[in-house]
This record gives sequence, C-alpha cells and structure tokens, in this order.
Amino acid sequence: MNSTIFEPITAVKGIGNETAAALEEMEIHTVKNLLEHLPYRYEDYRLRDLETVEHEERVTVEGKIHTIPTLGYFGKKKSRLTIKLLSGRYLINVIFFNQPYLKPKLTIGETITVTGKWDRHRQTITGSECHIGNHSREKEFEPVYSVKGSITVKGLRRFISNAFSQYGSMIEENLPPQLLATYKLMPRKDALRMMHFPFSADDIKKARRRFVYEEFLMFQLKMQALRKVQREQSKGIGQEFDGKSVEAFVGTLPFPLTHAQNRVVEEILNDMKSPYRMNRLLQGDVGSGKTVVAAICLKATITAGFQGALMVPTEILAEQHTQSLKAMLEPTGVKVALLTSSVKGKKRRELLEMLESGEIDLLIGTHALIQDEVNFRNLGLVITDEQHRFGVEQRRILREKGANPDVLFMTATPIPRTLAITVFGEMDVSTIDEMPAGRKAIETYWAKHQMLDRILTFVEKELKKGRQAYVICPLIEESEKLDSLQNVLDVHAMLTQYFANRYKVGLMHGRLPADEKDEVMQEFSVNIAQILVSTTVVEVGVNVPNATVMVIYDAERFGLSQLHQLRGRVGRGSDQSFCILLADPKTEVGKERMKIMTETNDGFVLSEKDLELRGPGDFFGKKQSGLPEFKVADMVHDYRTLEVAREDAAKLIASQSFWHSGEYAPLRDYLEGTGVFTGEKLD
Ligand code: ADP
Ligand code: MG
Repeated sequence: MNSTIFEPITAVKGIGNETAAALEEMEIHTVKNLLEHLPYRYEDYRLRDLETVEHEERVTVEGKIHTIPTLGYFGKKKSRLTIKLLSGRYLINVIFFNQPYLKPKLTIGETITVTGKWDRHRQTITGSECHIGNHSREKEFEPVYSVKGSITVKGLRRFISNAFSQYGSMIEENLPPQLLATYKLMPRKDALRMMHFPFSADDIKKARRRFVYEEFLMFQLKMQALRKVQREQSKGIGQEFDGKSVEAFVGTLPFPLTHAQNRVVEEILNDMKSPYRMNRLLQGDVGSGKTVVAAICLKATITAGFQGALMVPTEILAEQHTQSLKAMLEPTGVKVALLTSSVKGKKRRELLEMLESGEIDLLIGTHALIQDEVNFRNLGLVITDEQHRFGVEQRRILREKGANPDVLFMTATPIPRTLAITVFGEMDVSTIDEMPAGRKAIETYWAKHQMLDRILTFVEKELKKGRQAYVICPLIEESEKLDSLQNVLDVHAMLTQYFANRYKVGLMHGRLPADEKDEVMQEFSVNIAQILVSTTVVEVGVNVPNATVMVIYDAERFGLSQLHQLRGRVGRGSDQSFCILLADPKTEVGKERMKIMTETNDGFVLSEKDLELRGPGDFFGKKQSGLPEFKVADMVHDYRTLEVAREDAAKLIASQSFWHSGEYAPLRDYLEGTGVFTGEKLD
C-alpha cells in the first residue's frame, strides 16, 4: 500500500487511457492535480420564492402538478412537454424540451422539483431538469468545473468523487499549524472535500476562506522571496552622498516640503545609502509634488559622484521635465541634458561623449535613454516616470546596462493598494498621500453634449480673465485611428471658427512630427495659443499653470484614473480651475462614473473605484500588466486577506525558522518549485 496522490490519473477508477489523455489536455496529470481542480462556481439548487427571482435567472422551485401534461412534437425528433404547476401562490407554466418520457410520470397532484430559466413575463420556467418528489436538501449546490474536449462536467464530478474515495485520506497539509490555528482555517483535506462536495453555502464559504488565504500566502511568499533574492544577489552601490549639499538644495526650493514629501525622500535616500539595490515605486496623486522629490534624489546621487537618468513616456514630457529640473538644479552646479529623437548628428555624438566622460550629470529623455549607443560613465540612479508604461523588457535592459543603479519608478496613477502589493509585490512602495497646502480643489461638472454652447460661453469668460483652456478628444495615442483623429481635427476646426479673431486655438496629437509638437506646446505654454485641442498625449505631466479649464469630449470613453490624470492638467496654479466632462453615458455604470468624478478629487479613491467598476484586468489597460491569476481568490473582494497574507509572508521569509524548521517544509518545497532561487523566472 504505497499509493500516493502523485500517481498518474489512470490510477483513479473510471479513468482509462483515453480519458487520461483528455484530462492531460487540461493540465491534469496526477491524482493531486485532479483533486485540486476546483470548481469555478456552483449550481445553486436552493428553493427560491419566485417573487425575488429576476427575469431569465435560473431557479429551482417545488410545486404540485395542476394540469395534465400536453405533449407536442415539432421537427423530426423535437418535443415540447407543458404543464401548469402550483408553486406557493403562483400558478406557472413549466416546459420541458425533448423529454417526452417524463409525460407518464407527471400526474395531477404529484409534487415535483424543477430547475430552469424563469421567464417573468410569460410566468414560465423552461425546465431543463425535473425531479419527481420534494426538493432534496442534500444536494443544494453542485460544483461546476471548467472542462475541455471530451470531458464533461458530470464526468469530471464522477472522477473527482472516485479520486476522493481512493485518495482523500492522503491529502497533506501544507500550511503550518500555527497559521491554521491563528486564522481558524480548515485543514486542507477537509477544505478540498468541501469545495467539491459542499452541503451548504456555509461550507463553500469556509472552504473557500482557506484556499483564498493559501493562494495569497503562496503568491506573497514568492514575491517576498524574490525581493530577498534581488536584494542579496544584486550588489547595490551604497551611495555616500553629501547630506549638506542635499539639504542646501532643498533650502533653495521656493516652498517647504510637505510631510509626505519629507517622508518619501527619507525612504528613498535610505535605500540609496544601503548596500542593496533600490527597487522602489513612488506613487502620488497628480500635483502631489513627485518631480521635486525626484530632483532631490537625483541631486543626492550626483553629490555622491554618480550620474542620474530620468526616463519619461513622451518627448513632450521629457522637455517639460528638462525645463523644470534645469531651473531647479543648474543653479547648484548640476549639468542637465535632454536626449530625444530630434537630437541628431553631431549634436547627438557630442552629447553622448559628454555623457560617457561624465560631464553630464543628469540625462532626461524617453526610453531612448537605455538604448545601446547610450553609455553612462557611472550611473547611480534611474528614475522612470509613469512606471506602468515601461514594460518588463525595458526593466531587463536596464538591469543589463552593466551598472547596478538604484531604480525608482514613479507613477501618478495611484495604484489601489491591493494591486500595488500583487503586481509590484516584490518592490518597496513609497506613497505621497498629501497635497501641498493652499491648493484649490478643481470644480468638476458633468454636461451633455447638447450644452456645448453654454460651455463655450463659460470657457470664453475664463479666457477673458487671461486664463487658458484644454479641450481633449478621446483617442489613444499609440493607435491613433483615422476616424478618431478626424474627431480632434473637427473639434479644432469648429473652435477655430468659433473663437476666430479673438483667441488662438492650438492642435496637438500623436501624429504630428516631433518639432511641430514642440512648437504647439511652446505656443500654449507661453500663452500665444489660449486653447489647446488635444488627444490624450497631454495626459501625463504637462504643466501649464495658467490653464484653468479642462473640457473633455466623450468623457464616458475614458477610465476614471485617466480622467483624473487629464483633470490634473489644470489646478496647477493659484486660480480656481474647472473640469467639464461632456458625456452622454448610456449605462448606469457610465453615469455612476461621471458622478464620482464630480464628487471627488482624490486619485486614490478614484483608482479604488475604477478597480471596482472595471476589474483588475482592465485597470492597467490591455498591455501586459503582470497580473497574477488566482484560482479561488479575488484580489478586489478578498483584499483584507491579501494584506494579512502579505504580512505573514514577509514575517516568514525574514524568520530563521522558516528556512529550517520542519513545519515549513511544504512551503519551502513550493518556493523551490517556483524557480525564484535559481533565477529562472525572475521578472
Ligand atoms: P506631480 O509630478 O506629482 O504631479 P509636480 O511635482 O509637478 O507634481 O508638482 C506640482 C506643482 O506643485 C509644481 O508646480 C510644484 O512646483 C509644486 N509643488 C511641489 N511641491 C510643493 C510643496 N511642498 N509646496 C508647494 N508647492 C509644491
Ligand atoms: Mg509629474
């Protein structure tokens, strides 16, 4: 008797070679795999009061047959069997398709239980299942599994049931007793059985609770182990910067830092000082003052004798950052340079030479910064703005640039905490959760497109005061399609005509050549153009403090976080600013989203709401986001457990006993299997 759950599935009764082959297609190879193939939902056979059942919902009811069944045939073999059923105070119709054999069993007065789809208007259940007799309370929930090929859900239920009678007692625990006790979690053996054969909703809840924790803990263990490995295996530089110069630089700023800014600066500088390599995410709402923080850290690395690099997603942003960082840093003797695709020929060669010789202290640009031809003398700190736009590939190139610079990722899209600790679970996170004092909240209004006239009157009132306005049309910059490009062109033409001889209207979109983009931005930033019609290319970072009005066309087509980013282009000066959302949303969710925008200016609140309304998969857009897939757990709804599991994982990884004591052996085996320690699956 040496059987184990690691045996091939053919060891299970009823599974022959053919079935086994089909199961292999579903990645079920061993008995263990089969036992751990969990249902993704349950068929609910609990009795319901029809009053509470929605149209087209599946429902189970019990009732007494009220009429003799009528059987009709149509087509060759198709039949329809109809009865009237008295269920509680309802007299309803029940229809069975293609089950003529039921007819003799359905006699008047007989009690039956039917399950099917409820048509509220016709008061009819299209019953797919019929059980003669009372509702049986034993089988209120049936598991539903994902299946493939020739495997059916019913078949799978049978295989799993057989597997349990043969192997159920051999399922081993993988969580240490102390954690099971602390959280009162079910033993693995019992929890697995209940997931497959639950008697009640409560069973499912309890069993699920255990697996949610298990899944999160395993995942977080992997992330924390990865973090440990990255720290210990990557030699950092342990930067010794000149604290006095850094402080003096902070003293030159026209404002005191907020508490939050002070805190994150300290967190980052401590990392840079440490012998480990920094891998940190800095998040803060638009306008919370991340650029200043970046400037201080760059200044620090330069005082330690290193160079700094700042990577941003667009050239417009690169130029803006260059302007503001030059203004801040050059008076303190820092040499700042900008590298974009329009720096060409001799100028480019000279710039690259100065970089290699160390004459340039700080280089700013798009991800062109990390291309082959760009060589730093000694890179100490790399900051990337709008982190999620840089893919895994760029991060790898950065790692392979030879040097071991500290890395700081900045993002202005506040990432809901639950995503931050899953997607960026192996990183440290600093958060600026406070706005500089004296900011006026942006007033946000939601208007229908037909109100455009009134809105233009309002815009003009602001322009008369000497202010400026953005008008944004939806369009995603990388995939500018012609029809939506037309949209921006049309709006631009319309406004040019409307404001003719009074105000100049600029036009900006991703298809413009780089030098034209520069010119347009330049004209807007010095108020030669008072209105800028643009696609979302101005979404990130653009800073024109005199602009006080943001009008967004078709606002329902943007996500909340993106709308918030766009809105963040105004409210950057001391004047009251306004954001007007032009939208005719068709759905309730769409209306809800517009309403939320008018109610809050807090990017963290909006990002949580966005996650709730759109789900984690959509949060980062379609691009590869590194979102893990959980079988049972749901990052959004189970976030409390996620937090707890993360803390537990961190404690475990940091403790001595985790690496030696027997009770943690299953967890260590699991980590071994993920490849974290061999570096196979890094990233
Ligand atoms: P972010 O990049 O986080 O959106 P910025 O760094 O561009 O924000 O800062 C927005 C504006 O706030 C800038 O004009 C900046 O000079 C100003 N600012 C930053 N920190 C402070 C502060 N502590 N007090 C007052 N103003 C600040
Ligand atoms: Mg910024």
